[in-house]
This record gives sequence, C-alpha cells and structure tokens, in this order.
Amino acid sequence: MSNSIKYNKTKIIATMGPATSDIPMLKKIIRAGVDVCRINFSHGDWDTHLQVINNIRQVNEELGTHVAILGDLQGPKLRIGKVENDKMLLNDGEIMVLTTEATLSSGNTIYVKYSTLARDVKVGERVLLDDGKLELEFTKRVNASAVEAKVINGGYLSSNKGFNLPSSDMSVASLTEKDRKDLEFIMKNDFDWIALSFVREEKDILELKDILKKNNCDAHVVAKIEKPQAVDNIDGIIDATDAIMVARGDLGVEMPMEQVPMIQKRIVSKCIEASKPVIIATQMMESMITSPTPTRAEANDVANAVMDGADAVMLSAETSVGQYPLKAVEAVEKILGSTELGWDVYNKIKKPDPSSASFLSDRICYATVSMSQGIEAKAILSMTQTGYTAYKIASGRPNCDIFIFTANKNLLSRLSLVWNVRAYFYDSRTNTDDTIKGVINILQEDGLLKDGDVVINTAAMPVVENRKTNALKISTVGE
Ligand code: ATP
Ligand code: MG
Ligand code: MG
Repeated sequence: MSNSIKYNKTKIIATMGPATSDIPMLKKIIRAGVDVCRINFSHGDWDTHLQVINNIRQVNEELGTHVAILGDLQGPKLRIGKVENDKMLLNDGEIMVLTTEATLSSGNTIYVKYSTLARDVKVGERVLLDDGKLELEFTKRVNASAVEAKVINGGYLSSNKGFNLPSSDMSVASLTEKDRKDLEFIMKNDFDWIALSFVREEKDILELKDILKKNNCDAHVVAKIEKPQAVDNIDGIIDATDAIMVARGDLGVEMPMEQVPMIQKRIVSKCIEASKPVIIATQMMESMITSPTPTRAEANDVANAVMDGADAVMLSAETSVGQYPLKAVEAVEKILGSTELGWDVYNKIKKPDPSSASFLSDRICYATVSMSQGIEAKAILSMTQTGYTAYKIASGRPNCDIFIFTANKNLLSRLSLVWNVRAYFYDSRTNTDDTIKGVINILQEDGLLKDGDVVINTAAMPVVENRKTNALKISTVGE
C-alpha cells in the first residue's frame, strides 16, 4: 500500500454520483482517505453503476488499495418524481397539489410515486420531504389520485427526493420488487457489502441473507436503522446482521430528531460490544454540498461519531452531487485524525463471555488488545480466514495499528469498513515462525514497521490447519 494514501482509524464512506465517479476524482478521494464507495440504488441506473464499479476496481488496481463497494438498496422509500429543470421552490403558506398522475413536478404540482397516497393519508397529517428539510400538511383530498397540502417549511426541491409520512402507518416489505432486481445486479458484480433500508426486525435481515446464501453470494449485510421499530428491536437486528448503519436522515424524520443523538450513542456501543461494524450516516458535512468549508457544528458531529466509537462515517450528497467532494473528504479526514489523538476513542474491550462457543479465541483477542496498551505495541498483526479475529480485535479499539493477513481474497476489501483494520493478502503457509517473520517483513517493506517496534502476532497454530485463533506472540522487529 502506498504511503501517499491518507489513513485514519475511523473509516470514510463516500456515496458515488456524478461528482465523484470518474477515475481522476476517484483517485483523489481515495488518496484523501476514502475506504468504502457507496452505490445508492435509489439514484442512477445499472449502466452508470457498472461504470463506477469498474472505475473503483481500476483505481484499486493502480493504487494498490482495497476500497470496498457497498450497494445500498432503496427499500420501500416513498419518492417524488422528476422536477422540471431539477429545481422548484416551495414557499411557506403555499398550497401544493401532490398527485400520482402527473409525470413532472412544476408550479404548484408535485408528482409523487406512490399510487395509494390519496387513500392512505388524512387531512392534518404531515409529509416531510428530503430527509425532513421541507414540511407540508395535508389540507384536502382532491380525488383518488391527488391531495392538497400547505407548505409549513418551504425550500428548494429537486428530482427523486424521498418523502416520509411519519404519522401514517404503512406495512410494506423491506425488499421491494426493485430491490430484488437490484440485488441480482449486486450479486453478479461482487459487492462487498449490501445495505438493507428500513429494516424493522431480525427477519428482514435473515430473508436477505437467505437469498444471498441460495445464490452463493459472499457479500455481507448492513442493516440501516431508520425506523422506530428497528430501534425497538435493535438487539435482535445486531445479532442477525453483519454491520449496522445509523441512517439519521430517515430516522430523524420517522421519530423525534432530538432522540437521534442518544440513539446513535446507544447503538454504537451495542455494536462495539457485539463486534459488528457500525456506520454513522447523513448530513455529516451537509453544508459542504455548496460550501468549501464545514460548519463548526458539522466538525463536532464527525468528531462525536469518532468518540462514540463508530467504525465509519459516511458522506452522501456531499460526495455524490456536491460542489466540493474532495474538500468534504479532506475535511472529514482532518477531523478524524485530530479526534483520534484523544484517549476517549480507545480501550473499549469487554471481557469475553465464558459461555460463548468462541470463548477461547475471544480470550486471546481480549488479551492481545489489553496487552497492546501495556507494552506500547506498535501494531497487532493477525492471521484470519473468516475475518472473525479482525472484527474482534478492532472492537477492542486498541491504540495501535491493526494489520490483518489473510488468504481469503474476499476479505481484503470487505474489511476496509472495519475500524483501523488494514488487510494484506498472505497465503504462504509453512510454519508459525516463518509466517510471523513473513508478515513483519511485508510491513517493514511498506515502511509501516521499523527495527525496535514491538508487535503482537495472533495466529491459529499450526498454521497449515484452519483453526480458530489460539496463539499470541510478542516480538521486537529486527531481533
Ligand atoms: P437514502 O435514503 O438511501 O440515503 P437519499 O435520497 O437520501 O437516499 P443519498 O445517497 O443520501 O440519497 O444522497 C443525498 C442526495 O444526493 C439524494 O437525495 C440525491 O438528490 C443526490 N444523489 C445521491 N446520489 C446520486 C446519484 N448517483 N445521482 C444523482 N443524484 C444523487
Ligand atoms: Mg440519504
Ligand atoms: Mg434512507
């Protein structure tokens, strides 16, 4: 891995879009610290997505990086249709007509893609647009396909923005027809992670995992927490999923936004305890969509996510359609680096549960992380086939580097989402002594270790068999 790439412990996810998907821009943002590229299936088409995927893989090849690809399924999200010239202004107090019959929004008409709208909503209920930035109240049912609504909080509206009906109860499946089709595309194109929107319970995750398994797809699942039901069922969801996203855009609309900060903190700490990666998403650098610098509050928000213990922070419109995608990534990178100098980010290891089936290997990970502080280790070097040790060690939040060596190629990019983990391909398996020497050599060649550095290796001995981690060794580089 080249040293010209910025690296922090907290990972950066950038949403792809017209502002970022060409190769020169991808190279810039990846050098600036992007670890995961998110492809949002709510926007764009397969041809464009495929081009972006090819571009990311080409840049990975050229830079020697393992940037991961995360596909985000739209889920049962209500959206408006196209807006004339992609921009319209809604003035406070104005009466708008929301209709399912038009093909374009303009003037006082908003075209909504939701055929039973007029049947499902009641006068007095609210509709929130664009993650709650605009708010309207239904005032009158016009006919079977249209309702009138008064603008409470106006602003600009552009094409394909989502809308929420927080007080109306709709029971729709979390995998829509469109999601199933997009899933086929995702499975065909080897994504590392798949984000499932509007998860409500464990069953939603298991249903997706079942499809992946039947199709021999190795992608792992991110559960997007954006509904109150998901917050209520969080323990079961964390148990069933591989990772979590605190999707604050919809969450802050579906429930009182003042509850979101504490929900974020609670979910992050539960995920760390379960050794499942957790992403904080939405509006992190929102003002940078149109401004070259973030607000102080945004800088604080990113820093807080780091202190909470998030594995990754995510940029949405800032990188997909914003005017300053590179500056947004650079700003996040600086805030991460600076916040990670603080002690509160580290040492979150919990004693493993003796009744767990993985107790002994968990105990090795526990010992490794606690010892790494005591001996001021420069790095933890772990061998893994399944990635289990990587998740486990990372969840202890040790204050030293974590290098993961694996012969499992799929892991290299998937682990890019995980806090502080850098993965290397390594498949020469002779004996433990040679392996330890071998991996230290690789890191020395990359300039990541030098003579005198103390490192901790974990491994499964003997290395020729695929066992659970059962060994820990301390070495001094060069001795
Ligand atoms: P989600 O609920 O999945 O987050 P979203 O509509 O909020 O959906 P984001 O990925 O968060 O989408 O991006 C924020 C905004 O940026 C979108 O509403 C859209 O206007 C714009 N955007 C994102 N990706 C694209 C894209 N690929 N092409 C065009 N516009 C995009
Ligand atoms: Mg969003
Ligand atoms: Mg969403």
